[in-house]
Amino acid sequence: MIVLGGGDTGADCIGTAHRHGAASVTTLAIGTQPPESRAAHEPWPMDPKVFEVTSADEEGGERRYLASTVEFLGDENGHVRALRVAETQYNDDGSRTPMPGTEREIPADLVLLALGFTGAEQETLSGQGSVEFDRRGNVQRSEDYMTSAEGVFAVGDAGRGASLVVWAIAEGRAAAKEVDEYLEGSSRLPAPVKPSDRAISLSG
Ligand SMILES: Cc1cc2nc3c(=O)[nH]c(=O)nc-3n(C[C@H](O)[C@H](O)[C@H](O)COP(=O)(O)OP(=O)(O)OC[C@H]3O[C@@H](n4cnc5c(N)ncnc54)[C@H](O)[C@@H]3O)c2cc1C
Repeated sequence: MIVLGGGDTGADCIGTAHRHGAASVTTLAIGTQPPESRAAHEPWPMDPKVFEVTSADEEGGERRYLASTVEFLGDENGHVRALRVAETQYNDDGSRTPMPGTEREIPADLVLLALGFTGAEQETLSGQGSVEFDRRGNVQRSEDYMTSAEGVFAVGDAGRGASLVVWAIAEGRAAAKEVDEYLEGSSRLPAPVKPSDRAISLSG
């Protein structure tokens, strides 16, 4: 079994695969292996990019870095039988491409894609008012959590993008205050975060 993507969702896939009795579990990450400890340019309280060993990783499995997937290979029944993978090459413009001449096959009965959040479900929302989306596919909203549709509010991952439960809870509480104000004209409820608030990071 192969997991494409080395993030938290990938770790959940690893743990689930082991519980289902997978004979072998390999994670392929397209980028370089992060450093073992916090880099100097990411001081506290930034969330540093470090090599994490999650509880799922402790259960087993192999993690490979600089692995670019080139092709899914199927058997005569249309089931995946292997992945063709090449070493990742970093180009001058910052892009990443498969390095020619490094391709090889890794056998697989199952491949799980854990490659990142692709945005809110636009199809299901399009029939529910004129809700607009930003260029990253998240629901667009103003600082009072209201979307482009009057009286429709958006919180959590739908508006913020892939995030954490604590942000979803905080946004839910803050949006409750904004809804209260919208309906009643004023509110005494707490508003712990704004939609534009972010954790401190290099990208701001
Ligand atoms: C595999 C995985 C592991 C994660 N692990 C962690 C973790 O360990 N810790 C952590 O803090 N966070 C984790 N997260 C992130 C966390 O799950 C999210 O940040 C959080 O669930 C966001 O909450 P939410 O309420 O915004 O969205 P969700 O929890 O996604 O809830 C949205 C709900 O809206 C429903 N919905 C969608 N469209 C419509 C519609 N048109 N009408 C009505 N309902 C609709 C969906 O079915 C869903 O039930 C993980 C995420 C994933 C995918």
